[in-house]
Amino acid sequence: MVVRMRVNRSKTGKRRSHHAISGVRLSTCSCGALRQSHRACPECGKYNDKVVIDVVARANREARRAKRHSADRPVTEKESEAAAT
Ligand SMILES: [Zn+2]
Repeated sequence: MVVRMRVNRSKTGKRRSHHAISGVRLSTCSCGALRQSHRACPECGKYNDKVVIDVVARANREARRAKRHSADRPVTEKESEAAAT
């Protein structure tokens, strides 16, 4: 890099002043759960009041997956609680 192109500390600081990450903005879904805007609701699977994710099928799939991964060891109490909810 040529000296003429070198960015001084002031310019670097000014550029980086916009790099901070703000918190996630949450809104309330029609089902009452908190969800991110422009994202499908993880609780009811709806986006714009239309079902886009089959949450029951997803829960079943994840339960099956967890069962397969823990086939060689017994399921802990914590995992069975998570599957129940
Ligand atoms: Zn919802």
